[in-house]
Amino acid sequence: MRKPRRHAAEHDLLEALDQAGCPVCRLAGEAVDAFLQSICYEQVNDLELREQLRTEGGFCPEHARRFLAQPNGPLATAIVYRDVLVNAARRLERDGALRQDGGRPRTGVRSLLAALLGERGRSDRLAHNAPRPCVACRAWSEAEERHLTTLCARVTDAAVAARYRAADGLCLLHLERALDADHPGAGVLARAALAGLSGLVNELDVYIRKHDYRFRPERWDGGEDVPARAVERAVGR
Ligand SMILES: [Zn+2]
Ligand SMILES: [Zn+2]
Repeated sequence: MRKPRRHAAEHDLLEALDQAGCPVCRLAGEAVDAFLQSICYEQVNDLELREQLRTEGGFCPEHARRFLAQPNGPLATAIVYRDVLVNAARRLERDGALRQDGGRPRTGVRSLLAALLGERGRSDRLAHNAPRPCVACRAWSEAEERHLTTLCARVTDAAVAARYRAADGLCLLHLERALDADHPGAGVLARAALAGLSGLVNELDVYIRKHDYRFRPERWDGGEDVPARAVERAVGR
């Protein structure tokens, strides 16, 4: 069974190369949407997953919003976050975070928040405003690792390399990951990035020049999306 799955992964990758933006960001995003949809449609009654979401305080902020935005997401969100909120109320009672006499919370505000949000609300995370990875974050990481490894292996093939060079290519975060891992195809990716980045810098120069009142054109002729594409190239999607 391994071979067909590998071919499917390669097929997805080659298709993603023909789309705009970083192919790994795109494929990982699609994998997360498929994961969230499967929770909406099938697994919202999966007791193990619901328990996991309950103890972890639901999804991270980004994936909570993405879950809500899925088709059928509002109902699934209602079910999952009812668990989360009920659990928060139980923690407040059980941990005795509030005094019976209505005085100040016995514990500090930070540990009170940690109690409310469960594992997601650990005080060190709150202090740095860095949410703990959620189940969907882990689905994202697995998918990005899988697709990045496939890309690095396949891009050593001349035909795939040509197709890669004709596309937008990896965002810098994923390029850095490929170089860090010292994958066999990382050199091909780095050389393609050099050429692609200089093209994008030229487009940014044109965009910036268009905003100079001395050269401002009568009307835009494309290129309005250049700043957004520059951000996406730098930090992914
Ligand atoms: Zn990316
Ligand atoms: Zn997440």
